[in-house]
Amino acid sequence: MRIKGEVLEFPSYRVVEGDYRIRLDKNESPYDLPDRVKEEIFEELRGLSFNRYPDIVSMPAREAIADFYDVSPENIAVGNGGDELIGYLVRLFEGKYVVVTPPTFGMYSFYAKLEGIPIVEVPLREDFTIDGDAIADKAKNARAVFIASPNNPTGNLQPEEEIIKVLDTGTAVVLDEAYAEFAGKSLWRLIEEYPNLIVLRTFSKAFSLAGVRAGYLLADGEIVDALYHIKSPFSVGIMTMAAVKVVLRHYDLVERRVAEIIEERERIRRVFREFTYPSDANFLLMRLNAYEFLLEKGIVVRKLSGRLDGHIRVTVGRKWENRELVEALREYLEVEGCG
Ligand code: PMP
Repeated sequence: MRIKGEVLEFPSYRVVEGDYRIRLDKNESPYDLPDRVKEEIFEELRGLSFNRYPDIVSMPAREAIADFYDVSPENIAVGNGGDELIGYLVRLFEGKYVVVTPPTFGMYSFYAKLEGIPIVEVPLREDFTIDGDAIADKAKNARAVFIASPNNPTGNLQPEEEIIKVLDTGTAVVLDEAYAEFAGKSLWRLIEEYPNLIVLRTFSKAFSLAGVRAGYLLADGEIVDALYHIKSPFSVGIMTMAAVKVVLRHYDLVERRVAEIIEERERIRRVFREFTYPSDANFLLMRLNAYEFLLEKGIVVRKLSGRLDGHIRVTVGRKWENRELVEALREYLEVEGCG
């Protein structure tokens, strides 16, 4: 027996576990759902049969999401987190390889590697924008191109005209908009114009449901149908679907919290402007080698490597957490003699 090395490099093994005071490492919402909203979910669950498998094509959740966007459920697919859908999207299309744009979200490459699919990298430009022409050049033989906007871990939205250049190749483009609510901008409506566009979204960030595991995509009906032909039948359970239905009724709450997170994000950025990149998401990329220093203070952030060696990615937390973060980083700068 020989175990595949790649499989053992699953990113979660690198996640810091333990009882840290302040966790700003996973780009979650710092706000749990209020009890009254949880009660509504419990109420929804009370009427469901726990002994039966969930709807095989997740119709209850797809209908709720379709109503929210005013599209057909045929344009929506739901997964056990956006991650599950990424796993299908690397496999769904014919072609030689997948195209990714590092530094970006690691799960595109993770699933491609797991499937033995070659990866072609078209690095982001100096300012972290995508190079539409360079990607288009590689797109011809690709199964799919993965573009995150806002990008993780750099935080920036990608220019629409560059995305269009890639869409015009006709190759499948997965536009990962996991953080779109914090950017106030989404290109999902382009699915009507581009049958090769797949817009990926998640309930894990702005909707406070990271623990529930719910992600979805908007795309042409043909893509959605094909995806349901390769999808794990019952990966989206009744509890997940109930939570999705209920949180969509409370979008006003989501919007209020998004506004608070944006306000805090900009406040932190103003303090460390020199070291912090602009962000359209719920996290900040900082050119500070402060990972270990912060960990000592009980604050966990994400340590970056490669091209972003010496940088950290910091999720915007609650006000008190951000205050402590700012205080700790000020101290770091003093110790380092940069303050
Ligand atoms: N895309 C990006 C860019 C992300 O950062 C994340 C979460 N870290 C996801 C997709 C997937 O999130 P989930 O599986 O929780 O829906």
